[in-house]
Amino acid sequence: MAKYGSEVVSKYDMPHEFEKKGAVSSKTVAEARRDVEVIRETDVLVVGGGPGGVAAAVSAARAGAKTILLERYGHLGGMATGGLVNIIPNLGSIYGEHLIGGFCQEVIERLAARGAACFPEKRYWGKAEPSVVEKYIKANMMHFYVRKNTAGEYVTLYTAVVDPEVTKDELNTMVLESGAELLLHTWVTEPIMEGNTVKGVIVESKSGRQALLAKVVIDSTGDGDLLPYTGTAVDEYMLPGSRIAQFGWVYWLCNVDLKKYDDFMTSEPDKYKSVVEELMKAGGMPFFSRGLLEHQEGVVWIHRLVGSLRQTDIEEMTYIDVTTRRESVKNWELLREYMPGFEKSFIMLSSPQLGTSGGRRIIGEYYMTEKDMDADTPFDDTIAIFADNDRGDKSLEYPRTYIPYRSLIPKETEGLLVACRAFSSDYEFQEFFNLIPHCMCFGQAAGAAAAIAVKDGVGVRDVDFAKLRAELLKYGAILP
Ligand SMILES: Cc1cc2nc3c(=O)[nH]c(=O)nc-3n(C[C@H](O)[C@H](O)[C@H](O)COP(=O)(O)OP(=O)(O)OC[C@H]3O[C@@H](n4cnc5c(N)ncnc54)[C@H](O)[C@@H]3O)c2cc1C
Repeated sequence: MAKYGSEVVSKYDMPHEFEKKGAVSSKTVAEARRDVEVIRETDVLVVGGGPGGVAAAVSAARAGAKTILLERYGHLGGMATGGLVNIIPNLGSIYGEHLIGGFCQEVIERLAARGAACFPEKRYWGKAEPSVVEKYIKANMMHFYVRKNTAGEYVTLYTAVVDPEVTKDELNTMVLESGAELLLHTWVTEPIMEGNTVKGVIVESKSGRQALLAKVVIDSTGDGDLLPYTGTAVDEYMLPGSRIAQFGWVYWLCNVDLKKYDDFMTSEPDKYKSVVEELMKAGGMPFFSRGLLEHQEGVVWIHRLVGSLRQTDIEEMTYIDVTTRRESVKNWELLREYMPGFEKSFIMLSSPQLGTSGGRRIIGEYYMTEKDMDADTPFDDTIAIFADNDRGDKSLEYPRTYIPYRSLIPKETEGLLVACRAFSSDYEFQEFFNLIPHCMCFGQAAGAAAAIAVKDGVGVRDVDFAKLRAELLKYGAILP
């Protein structure tokens, strides 16, 4: 399997073994049959307000469907905001060609207008400008921003960084402006099935257990939470030690004196090396990324990755949250003690939601595999073009990867689309193409398709692709 981030990331964490209780009783209880109040009937219901779900809701509403977006937390954005993984990468190819437009580009432009997004100027995309390359190498965001071209030179890519707090606000605005209804603090527990057709969902919240009915439901939970109840075939395989087989726990330190840190590193390189060694011996981790937004001076991010093959298991999630929080606070204490520049720093924020990268994936009408990365042919139903995500020489040979609408349609289930990292793909394809901009593209396409299906009175697999393509182009998607 090709490695993600060929230059920077050579090794991810292997899954952790620890004692688990599992179910400690062999008893079961029969849930009493009861009538549940239906609080809404709508055309399109989107479950999960992450990058995929927000794009789906906005797109469906803009295409004329009565749309509701349900989110378990009090904010939108999923991992891009609550997970503090606010790099929106790979928006163009290594040759400087812009590939991801549409909803994703609109979000970036709206945030940039508020000073809440930054990215390299267009004239530097795919270009080897040393001062720009140097800036991103120094920020330690290498493979997302900088890669080697065929001549072996480092070039800059079109990748953006966004402010998570402003992003939450802007996504709320976009959803409400589109005419979609937003219900936060609403945990979706299962789909309402009639045979193999999804008819709505059951939710649990402070308001109790309630139901919402819809003509099309879009699963944008990231983990594919609705799938186990639908009978849809899923693939959950992850290669141990791969990028998707990791939990992520991100925290931000602020008030770091980076000038003092840089001066120390450059003026006393031997001493710097020995401080790094001492810190690592004490169990610390001296590597970090620098906040790139102008107003985030003195902010650094630390990503703690922990290997896991069971990212929806509550015992595993609890173990990771508890141990990683302990380690991260200790790491900050060590940095403060050992590293010049960190004396007055503090942990400003740790991600309110545990970072999951893998999870359930549908086996859909089209199943994406490595062979689709090594092809240069668009599909008849292409809904997005992705820039190849740093597979070394392979990326130079195949800079574009085409995504068909069929990869969002589960095979055995009606009335359901998937618009998140649970799209139809094997673990190798998933390793490279489940990032924030990718999920936004899935969402934009799924939302528009659901609205067209409702308007035309057809199932989601019978959507007229010419109409879907026209709707995507209308809102800026870049298609073949
Ligand atoms: C440590 C780490 C670093 C990463 N770094 C980057 C990066 O720099 N750039 C990048 O592009 N990608 C990065 N990724 C990957 C990326 O964040 C995700 O793949 C992407 O966010 C997936 O989007 P999504 O919409 O599928 O799911 P998510 O972002 O997970 O959003 C799902 C949403 O659904 C909600 N939800 C879930 N279940 C339910 C439910 N049952 N009921 C109601 N709501 C529900 C969640 O609260 C959430 O808002 C990283 C991932 C990790 C773990």
